[in-house]
Amino acid sequence: MRFKRVWARLLGVEHTVIEHVGFDEEAEAIVALVRPARGQRGRCGICGRRSPGYDHGQGRRRWRTLDFGVVQAFLEAEAPRVTCHRHGVVVAAVPWARHGAGFTRAFEDTAAWLAVHTSRVAVAELLRVAWRTVGRMLTRVAEETGANIDRLEGLRRIGIDEISHRKGHRYLTVVVDHDTGRLVWAAPGHDEATLHRFFDALGEHRSGQLSLVSADAADWIANAVAARCPQAVLCLDPFHVVRWATDALDEVRRQTWNAARRSGQPALARELKGARFALWKNPEHLTMRQRGKLARVADVNQHLYKAYLLKEELRLVFKLKGVRAVALLDAWLSWARRCRIPAFVKLARAITDHRAGIQATLLYGLSNGLVESVNTKLRLLTRIAFGFRSPEALIALAMLALGGLCPPLPGRA
Ligand SMILES: [Zn+2]
Repeated sequence: MRFKRVWARLLGVEHTVIEHVGFDEEAEAIVALVRPARGQRGRCGICGRRSPGYDHGQGRRRWRTLDFGVVQAFLEAEAPRVTCHRHGVVVAAVPWARHGAGFTRAFEDTAAWLAVHTSRVAVAELLRVAWRTVGRMLTRVAEETGANIDRLEGLRRIGIDEISHRKGHRYLTVVVDHDTGRLVWAAPGHDEATLHRFFDALGEHRSGQLSLVSADAADWIANAVAARCPQAVLCLDPFHVVRWATDALDEVRRQTWNAARRSGQPALARELKGARFALWKNPEHLTMRQRGKLARVADVNQHLYKAYLLKEELRLVFKLKGVRAVALLDAWLSWARRCRIPAFVKLARAITDHRAGIQATLLYGLSNGLVESVNTKLRLLTRIAFGFRSPEALIALAMLALGGLCPPLPGRA
């Protein structure tokens, strides 16, 4: 008796009767024969409601659980079906695994924790599973932990963004809480209909409590926000504006480089090509070598250097806050309009068009760092999630990593 309780602890299972533990020579694995404890039998695998038995299903089956030392381990049990009056004929629930899983809860929670805290290679190698399989585990874990937490409660200031997650223009719409820095909602698609689904989930009352929404300059976001939470101030995310400036600067650099090449100045062209990162990085992060490159740019190409200063000064606008920042923005606009660099004249026009949203950002003191850091992490996750078949797996990984849904490792508080 005591022996079986030790095994239950070792396997990390609850409400489960251990019938026998042995070593399967063929599978080279430890196999524990188990059954659900009394009150746990005959329940619907989806909703957990007590339901009359239907049949034996496909007979006995195995669930992979955490390794013991160097060998793999499985739980083995009957998997009968029941008739749920809401879900019809379904495989009965088992206390050690989630519905539809070939792995135990302990195994899936471990996979989720590892996916959030280590690399994809480490997870797949350590657990001896395909990365795609991990994707399905993450979906189940996030769905379960997410069902117990209302992530949309208490939202006041949110950021809405779109993230490209695959080639061929597949996007997710994501919503971030500015006050906690957490990802609170994500769904495939990037259009008004998708965003309306977020406001549906939030509900009318809580939509009415939003005071501020930040976003890029997309019309579909502005339209949905105006329709569903007209009281909220719409701000333009600072890092989007700074990215416009970085893009404009890159355009100028490319034009200058092409001109140098065409006019037979290969040395200058090479120099400009090498200066790309120096121009692109924030000056406080430049290495000595990059500082040198920047000085060379200032020396040999005034036009490009002016574009660089324009980009930097716009970044400075968003580092300041309040009326000082607004005054600097005005000064920047009049400089950019007269600068005779087409890319920046165009940028000045775009910024003038979105003046109200930018001014709101400056006056409401919206922190750039928080949203940008969530955004950067999300982009990193989209790369890690490459190989998952469905956007749901990516959303699950994002929710686990950035939405506070990651479960603790099994057996720990
Ligand atoms: Zn059911």
